[in-house]
Amino acid sequence: MASEAVRVVVRCRPPSEREKALGCRAVVSTDSARGQCCIHNPGAAGQPPKQFTFDGAYGGGHSTEQIYNDIAYPLVEGVTEGYNGTIFAYGQTGSGKSFTMQGITDPPPQKGIIPRAFEHIFESVQCAENTKFLVRVSYLEIYTEDIRDLLGADTKQKLELKEHPEKGVYVKGLSLHTVHNVAQCERIMETGWRNRAVGYTLMNKDSSRSHSIFTINMEIYAVDERGEDHLRAAKLNLVDLAGSERQSKTGATGERLKEATKINLSLSALGNVISALVDGRCKHIPYRDSKLTRLLQDSLGGNTKTLMVACLSPADNNYDESLSTLRYANRAKNIKNKPHINEDPKDALLREYQEEIRKLKAILAEQMNTNNVSVGLLPAETTQLELKPALLPDFQPDVEAEKQLIREEYEARLAQLKADYEAEQESRARLEEDINTMRTSYNLKLSSLEENLRKEADAVLRVETLPDQAPLSSGLVVTITETEQVSNKDTAEPQIAQYIGSVTRETPGAEVAVAAEEVQVAVDKQQVLARLHMLEQQVVGGEQAKNKDLKEKHKHRKKYADERKKQLVAALQKFDEDSSDWVLLNVYDSIQEEVLAKSKLLEKMQKKLKAAETEIKDLQSEFELEKIDYLATIRRQERDCLLFQQLLDQVQPLIRRDCNYSNLDKIKCESIWDEDSGCWKLPELVIQKTSLPAVPSLPQTKPARKSSSGEDGELLMIGSHVQSLQSRRL
Ligand code: ADP
Ligand code: MG
Repeated sequence: MASEAVRVVVRCRPPSEREKALGCRAVVSTDSARGQCCIHNPGAAGQPPKQFTFDGAYGGGHSTEQIYNDIAYPLVEGVTEGYNGTIFAYGQTGSGKSFTMQGITDPPPQKGIIPRAFEHIFESVQCAENTKFLVRVSYLEIYTEDIRDLLGADTKQKLELKEHPEKGVYVKGLSLHTVHNVAQCERIMETGWRNRAVGYTLMNKDSSRSHSIFTINMEIYAVDERGEDHLRAAKLNLVDLAGSERQSKTGATGERLKEATKINLSLSALGNVISALVDGRCKHIPYRDSKLTRLLQDSLGGNTKTLMVACLSPADNNYDESLSTLRYANRAKNIKNKPHINEDPKDALLREYQEEIRKLKAILAEQMNTNNVSVGLLPAETTQLELKPALLPDFQPDVEAEKQLIREEYEARLAQLKADYEAEQESRARLEEDINTMRTSYNLKLSSLEENLRKEADAVLRVETLPDQAPLSSGLVVTITETEQVSNKDTAEPQIAQYIGSVTRETPGAEVAVAAEEVQVAVDKQQVLARLHMLEQQVVGGEQAKNKDLKEKHKHRKKYADERKKQLVAALQKFDEDSSDWVLLNVYDSIQEEVLAKSKLLEKMQKKLKAAETEIKDLQSEFELEKIDYLATIRRQERDCLLFQQLLDQVQPLIRRDCNYSNLDKIKCESIWDEDSGCWKLPELVIQKTSLPAVPSLPQTKPARKSSSGEDGELLMIGSHVQSLQSRRL
């Protein structure tokens, strides 16, 4: 499996009004053509700038549109082909992460990566040929290691992380929303964004301390030229990380510092994961150290194409943070991922949908046939009218009245049922049951009515011998016999239809049964159609497959990104050649020329050496700072541990002896650390009932009062003590 590095670009925003007012100097410069970024140390004027090379470098004059077209486009395009993708923005608070991910609508080129990804995905979906997509989105945030669903019914509910052998790590209970177009996606993004903001104003917190992940899940069903179908799945994570500034530097103390440490736990875990991945010697990658790293596990060293946008402030007062961001980004670009197309996903909803669509269509086809049969078998009104007077001259008014009564009753109840159905569509099962009960009751009524009719018709036939109607009358009897046979519940639909048809042809009042059956079929058909429509509506794709202009534009954008990559590689190669000219064997005309050239080279090398020395010093002081941070954390945690130990020492003697928790050392030995839930599994709390041998009761001693299980032993012991004292006195 081919591996590819995590792509990293830097984006330095223009100076803010505040920075301008403070008279800050710009210390960051970018060279977009080569993807290089330089940072000058404002505290050491003579020092050469530190230079970093990335897959792209963008300054204040660049738009999100350019970043997207240059580097994000191929990644998102990959998602529509079945690769997983992750784009995350990293940087200190106020460096432009949200500006890059969410963006602004005016001016349009500064629209964020997330809305651009929506447009891109739906453009690809619409241009696709012989392909259908199911697109679903989710939006979550992680704050102080708690996961919340920004689109859920309760945005404050904490969700759990789970691991599935095939699905991998997922958030249990996270809501997924099917989307069909860009506008829907944008509305959902805004809703989530608002929920995030509302959550924090209520809690008086700042959104820059939470991580948010907007995920677009795609299931892709494609049929190739050979007619073979392929099912693929992919997801695009769009991550807006919390501010990367070191919380201890913000002067937070006490509870706030504790909270801050937790806030940044995910971020420092992310840093550790990156370091461990880059350092080839590490066997253990600490993904499990935080929720963020667990969720992004596949994006870092796994099956995902990943892009990191490192955001910077140009101001000198942010030098330390900007340098730290650049170092972080520089490390991340060495991570190797192994992206591959996710073929044949086990839990694809699209597969289930398709299966259901196929079944529904089959049901529908059958029902159509059935319906046609019954409709086809329905007698012409005239035939009935012709038959009735001849067969049943005397009983007509009574039958009509009864029929009318049944019909009215039926119609009233049917109307009621229909209203109910419309009111609560989901109670389909109940409705069916009602209709069935109703139908059975009508069938019963009709059978008795028909039975009477048959008897009377027989009597009539016996009296009136009409040669041309004899077959009909005998047919009528046969049909009714059939009716009795087929009124069995398990009868197949076509048979029912036939039965209804034949009854209708020959028995008055039986059209009520036909109507009942028809309505049943119609209701079923309506439901099947509604479900079919709903399912078909879930799926999108190919709407613009014939739109040549759009397809051309799509192809062009893809080509542009490839060309841009080639340009960058060429520019970098040229730069490398320029700076390594000393390797080449030069021929000099004079000794002076050689001295001049070599002193220039020496100067260059000295600059490089100085830069490397400063870098070593910087790194050492940064490590020193980090060490101080870690030691402070360890000291605080040790103090916390000591507090708990002292509390336990105080409380332990108060624990009843017959409880297993009275021996805390044993409990410690029996406790097991659970990686999945990230907490200890402690032994069950048990009270051991120890029953001592029965003591013969003494006449002098009071009968032992009834007590709870724990006190029995004590009382018995007191009892035996008293007994021994008494025996000694005797
Ligand atoms: P973060 O999310 O990293 O805390 P924001 O995205 O909220 O930072 O940006 C902070 C401020 O800087 C916002 O007012 C934003 O409009 C502005 N800003 C950020 N990046 C740019 C940019 N590239 N061009 C113009 N303004 C920007
Ligand atoms: Mg932000």
